[in-house]
Amino acid sequence: MSAAEPAFALERVSKRYGATIALDNVQLAFATGSTTALIGSSGSGKSTVLRLFLGLAWPDSGTIRIDGRPLMPAGVQPLRRRVGYVIQDGGLFPHLTCLGNLALQPRHLGWDKDRITARAQELAELTALPKQVLDRYPAELSGGQRQRVALMRGLMLDPDALLLDEPLGALDPIVRHELQDELKRIFDRLGKTVVVVTHDLAEAAWFAERLVLMSQGKVVQDGSLADLRQRPASDFVRRFVAAQRRLPEAP
Ligand code: ADP
Ligand code: MG
Repeated sequence: MSAAEPAFALERVSKRYGATIALDNVQLAFATGSTTALIGSSGSGKSTVLRLFLGLAWPDSGTIRIDGRPLMPAGVQPLRRRVGYVIQDGGLFPHLTCLGNLALQPRHLGWDKDRITARAQELAELTALPKQVLDRYPAELSGGQRQRVALMRGLMLDPDALLLDEPLGALDPIVRHELQDELKRIFDRLGKTVVVVTHDLAEAAWFAERLVLMSQGKVVQDGSLADLRQRPASDFVRRFVAAQRRLPEAP
């Protein structure tokens, strides 16, 4: 395994669901330690990309490579320990407290209670979650707190990479703004390989210099915000950039 190999790669990957083409011959690689935002309209295939990297879905054709090696079913369990996954509504188990949610994977790996609690407290600090929240159930948390716990769960095993699927999609604007700041700080500080899915161009550009824009199962542009703005690869890109709403000018 060479350090020059990308952490995650899709090689000519296609994936269908019945008559729907979720991914159409996609070629895409994410370098180790890089942060990338995957953007595009709803249904463009963004979640499918992340799910393929986690072995939650398998391609009809093409190859998924993790650190240069083809992903096989037998590689999925070890892979999930090395990759944190965070989804829009957090995906926490409602019948477990936050700490209970955080403890699931580490306990399975044989961590003792003290180690789990210590790691949870360390991550509460990193994500600015009040420690007393750890004993509550997910339903007793605000949306922002739930996403902080979901992020902590993704980080419990200190993974090499984080895949985040619209992690802030369900939050109100103020909390979202606050968590955008915190996530960016965390990405910069941890230096992990990060792929973050969002349909918001401003958020994407806040998180990452590299933006990968998808439409209808294809990558339509891969570049910086300046590339998308000044050198749109197609009319779709131009419209996607133009569709970002700005506040009206003051009278
Ligand atoms: P995005 O995350 O960009 O909104 P997805 O990757 O979730 O897009 O989906 C791409 C396409 O594949 C969509 O048309 C979606 O409806 C379809 N799709 C995704 N997952 C499934 C599934 N499990 N069963 C059927 N269709 C699916
Ligand atoms: Mg999605």
